[in-house]
Amino acid sequence: MRGFFHTSLSSHQANIPTVPRCGACGLYRHCRSPKMPPYGKGKRSVLVVGEAPGETEDEKGRPFVGTSGQLLRTQLYEIGVDLDEDTWVTNSVICRPVRNATPTPDQILYCYPNLNNVLKKLRPKVVITLGRSALQSVLLPYWQDIGNLERWIGWQIPLPDFWLCPTYHPAYLLRANHPVLDRAVLDHLRSAFELVDRPRPQVDTGSIVCTFDEAKIEQTIREIVEEGGWVAVDYETNCLKPETPGGRIFSCAISNGKHTISFLWTPRTQAATAEVLFSKRCWKIASNLKMEERWTRHVFGRGVVRWGWDTMLAAHVLDNRQGICSLKFQALVRLGVPTYNQQVEAFLTGNGRSRLNRITEIEPRTLLRYGGMDALLEWHLAKLQRQEMGYGD
Ligand code: URA
Repeated sequence: MRGFFHTSLSSHQANIPTVPRCGACGLYRHCRSPKMPPYGKGKRSVLVVGEAPGETEDEKGRPFVGTSGQLLRTQLYEIGVDLDEDTWVTNSVICRPVRNATPTPDQILYCYPNLNNVLKKLRPKVVITLGRSALQSVLLPYWQDIGNLERWIGWQIPLPDFWLCPTYHPAYLLRANHPVLDRAVLDHLRSAFELVDRPRPQVDTGSIVCTFDEAKIEQTIREIVEEGGWVAVDYETNCLKPETPGGRIFSCAISNGKHTISFLWTPRTQAATAEVLFSKRCWKIASNLKMEERWTRHVFGRGVVRWGWDTMLAAHVLDNRQGICSLKFQALVRLGVPTYNQQVEAFLTGNGRSRLNRITEIEPRTLLRYGGMDALLEWHLAKLQRQEMGYGD
């Protein structure tokens, strides 16, 4: 696991059972082949995860031997893959749900330890999820609410232990009966198998420096300005709009990929930050830069010099699906960094009664860690986006 914020990941993981809760689930009482084990030789180190066994699977005691399985086999055959020889197959829920109902979030949660044991035992290099239940299950330790399935389809997500490649479920393809969808899934499957030997990107979140030492902050900022180039700047504030009565900046984080410094906003650190904001040597990066621009204008009476990149805008230009532009989503799908805002999220979102959020209730070190993550990830994300857009570096 990488970086400090896996404390927040583990606090999230604390809600995930480590032993299957078959008693609470009860599906095993109603099927012929309860607790169906994974199947396949997995010669290419790819695990395919489906939703749940259907009627034929339950009869035969093997996943993916019914109509959906047949379609999956045919598609894999087209790209030179043999389902039984080259992959392992399992499901998010390993007992057939009554009347083939879609598994409930609780059933997926209760059964997750079975999937986790399979992952730990087989150690696949690539996991392909078919449909929503499978994705929900695999993402449990990394992302809480998957929301719309559409936004996840087709990404190649470099999770800490494997590449995750979400695509549609074959049953959906059979219902939709649309050649464009079939072609898209074929592409997802083909590109998933190409990932097997590709290293996953790593972001060294351990390099983030959170400090109250103002001399050190000044020194680091001076070095960043001297080095020049791409620099991410991220404010944490007690409201979105600087004109809000009582609104102010609480902290700031600055990253040039090599150095990431996160600090509380004081008269001295404000003056140091100005060195970066108004330097022509540094091309500034932000996620939704209008926020940093507005606060900069409010505090300094002038705008940032040399905006270079907005990760939110670039995310939208590269892929215009809904719900994909946030830094957190992009950090997961492109950089494999799991949700890291659980500890602060509730305090940073505005509350109904006041226009100010509850940032003051966040322990300062936690706030700095969070801001530092934002700045570092913005920097890495901007780099990947520039590469994808063909700007080189
Ligand atoms: N559909 C699934 O999701 N899994 C199976 O095993 C069979 C059909």
